[in-house]
Amino acid sequence: MSTFYNHKAFMDLNPSQKEAVQNLEGPLLVLSGAGTGKTRVLTARLANLLYSNKTKPWNILAVTFTNKAAKEMRIRLEGLIGPSANSVWLGTFHSIAARILRENAEIIGLSPNYTIITPDDQVRLLKQIMLDDEIDIKKFTPKSMSNLIGTWKDKGYKPNDLKISNNDYFANGKAINIYKTYQMRLITLNSADFGDLLLHNLTIFSKHPDILNQYHLKISYFLVDEYQDTNTIQYLWLKLLANKTKNICCVGDDDQSIYGWRGAQVGNILRFEKDYPLAKVIKLEENYRSTGRILEAANSVIINNKERLGKNLKTSSKDGDKIDLISVWDGMEEAKKTSLEIENLYSSGFRYDQMAVLVRAGHQTRYFEERFVDIGIPYKVIGAKFYERMEIRDALAYLRVVQQPNDDLALERIVNIPKRGLGTSTTSMIHSYAKNNNISFFSATQELLMTDEFRPNVKRTLQNLINQFLDWKNQNNEITHMDLALKVLEESGYIAHWQNEKSIDGEGRLENLKELINAMSGFENLSGFLEHISLVMDGDSEAEAGEVSLMTLHAAKGLEFDVVFLPGWEEGLFPSQRSIDELGLAGLEEERRLAYVGITRAKQRLFITFSANRQIHGLWQGSIPSRFISELPRHILNENIEGNIGADASSYNQIDFDLSTKNGSYGPGFLRAKQNGINGINSYKKTQYDNNILNTNIEFNNGQRVFHQKFGMGLIISSDGDKLNINFDKAGEKKVVSSFVKLID
Ligand code: ATP
Ligand code: MG
Repeated sequence: MSTFYNHKAFMDLNPSQKEAVQNLEGPLLVLSGAGTGKTRVLTARLANLLYSNKTKPWNILAVTFTNKAAKEMRIRLEGLIGPSANSVWLGTFHSIAARILRENAEIIGLSPNYTIITPDDQVRLLKQIMLDDEIDIKKFTPKSMSNLIGTWKDKGYKPNDLKISNNDYFANGKAINIYKTYQMRLITLNSADFGDLLLHNLTIFSKHPDILNQYHLKISYFLVDEYQDTNTIQYLWLKLLANKTKNICCVGDDDQSIYGWRGAQVGNILRFEKDYPLAKVIKLEENYRSTGRILEAANSVIINNKERLGKNLKTSSKDGDKIDLISVWDGMEEAKKTSLEIENLYSSGFRYDQMAVLVRAGHQTRYFEERFVDIGIPYKVIGAKFYERMEIRDALAYLRVVQQPNDDLALERIVNIPKRGLGTSTTSMIHSYAKNNNISFFSATQELLMTDEFRPNVKRTLQNLINQFLDWKNQNNEITHMDLALKVLEESGYIAHWQNEKSIDGEGRLENLKELINAMSGFENLSGFLEHISLVMDGDSEAEAGEVSLMTLHAAKGLEFDVVFLPGWEEGLFPSQRSIDELGLAGLEEERRLAYVGITRAKQRLFITFSANRQIHGLWQGSIPSRFISELPRHILNENIEGNIGADASSYNQIDFDLSTKNGSYGPGFLRAKQNGINGINSYKKTQYDNNILNTNIEFNNGQRVFHQKFGMGLIISSDGDKLNINFDKAGEKKVVSSFVKLID
């Protein structure tokens, strides 16, 4: 291969970036702010390693934060070095650890086809264990037990590493025992949860230095993106693996550490030079992503944090447009205004897939989704996963049992779906037999079938089902996994179950099942597919071209968009009250880093909105704007504060929008909204929405731009009484009733 240094991808880099790319040996830390090209440098460095012939693709391990980021990096790498990019070990901590575990499963007591269980299976299993242990699961919920175990695993603690003082407050001191039982149950089920992947890796490495040594020989270069968000166990894992060659390059930004709540230790990045005393540290300062004003916003917010290394980003790009700060009355109006802006931007040439709405809390996406559906904006919720739909989970459960009959959680899910007349008395009998004999549900059923415990018809049904599973399993290697999936879904009666379903969504569910089989074709076999599913179910999925992305700020890390909307900038929602309550100043600072991440995703346009009212747990509450808004310099803002709030809300035009105060005081309007409570809002809502629809007095003229709930934006071409002929940007020419359209000025 020729040298990488003649390659455009190298020559386009700035001198500090080049230095990082050229420095191939020994520990290297690239510590710098958002959009300075860290990920770009990491990819180029990977290419350079291969160009320089220092190593083979399969001797390189590169870790990204999400599966999506891994995929993107692979595509870019392929562009740089060709198909050998496919041989690089590139993935998330989880996916790489899953593979190492598969290669050494028997050391843990698992077989290589072990199942990775999903978070809700985790909770179900814990619930069983806690009920068996007679724990009051209302007081100590299985979900919080699952979180507690997650926290322990993130720190690398196995049950035996814990002392009673670690948990005396939870489940009357029984938490460690529950953890122990849970781990044993998982092994019996030939399963692992997410936390186990790395935890088992550590056990394997520490118990078997020879195996660790094999990986030392196998992997000679390490590259890690988003290093600021590694947690303790990831840190330990990486250190064990990389300590031999010390050829490790980590890139990160302390200001973007946003996973503290999941155990991420920003200290890991600060400790790098101690861990690797010969480490070289390179800082990049030039931001290539955002306009000057967007960067100024980011810098002005993050400067309020005390706990940071302190760096300022600069850019040689233009100032760009001002940042739009928009007030709205409620979530519905927020979604409306956002969608209007999206339509306008789209008309002026921005692509949908270059726009994103980034929310603080998952539930915020609902209004946006409803609105986008209404007016036909194509969108994709990243994280609200296809794979979490009921029919997909059922189908996956069937496939999991075919793959691994001991997968109890899967089998228990579908044993009576479609209905086979197997009631809870039957399943609990099997369940307790399984537990007493420490065998799986599947084996317990097989054993009980040799007895007369079941009523004859139940016996027949169960025997049938077991035979079917054995038959499908036998076929696993004979026919393609797509054919197998179809066969399983047909023969089990699952497809017929939805075909007979009279409700409207039966059709959609069948479509989804088809889509599931389509998705399988991208994988070599069933086991590869199921592993992929468990990993994507953890978080990220992909935005398709041509769709606005809707996702949480956490999921947006590392990404960039031309246009970014940041809704819900209100105290309590963002910064999240819960973070502040739980972690005090540290929590607030993590929230502020999240704001910094959000702002720095934007390349050209940034919209920040805040609402006077939010519905929280079904109740309307008044809200005050986020303190982060008051940290934005006014001169870079385009303030749209009165928010065109509607007929009887004229007083909102006089909102005293005082940005100089840090406590988010926005004057009488918002305070009154707070005092008004539910009644005020209801009466307002009525008039406002009535006004919207019944705008009978307005005269329309040809050539005016209007907005229609269903068809979106369009131009009036002719009219006939109260009927308008409108050429809609997307829907084409339609005849609509004038009272249903709104004039856009
Ligand atoms: P984040 O902290 O958000 O993860 P990052 O530091 O990883 O950001 P990149 O995503 O690598 O930054 O780069 C940000 C943008 O700047 C990308 O669009 C990238 O292609 C571009 N970029 C990086 N370096 C250069 C350069 N030297 N010349 C032109 N564009 C660049
Ligand atoms: Mg990056």
